[in-house]
Amino acid sequence: MSSPLALADAQVIGTELAIRWSDGAESFLPLEPLRRNCPCALCQGESTATATYSPRQKDYSPASFVVRSLQPVGGYALQIVWADGHATGIYPYSYLLSLAGEPPPLG
Ligand SMILES: [Zn+2]
Repeated sequence: MSSPLALADAQVIGTELAIRWSDGAESFLPLEPLRRNCPCALCQGESTATATYSPRQKDYSPASFVVRSLQPVGGYALQIVWADGHATGIYPYSYLLSLAGEPPPLG
């Protein structure tokens, strides 16, 4: 019941990222909002106790929403390399689930 979530398979189908989890569930994430919600510091900016810095100006192109490759990271996250060269986005599985509108796993 509290076994760690694992990724069984991930592939791009059309304009969606299709993920199959170790428990057999599947998530489908449209690529454009996936990129717009990229969790890396470049895309999300950084906050401190005294100030919030806005992320730098986004400069998306059609290639920004095309996946070049997928790379599991450390058994807890998926690194997505986008066709425009952006490769710093590491998406924890729980974050992917929340983007898919599913509750994160407990524990
Ligand atoms: Zn990013």
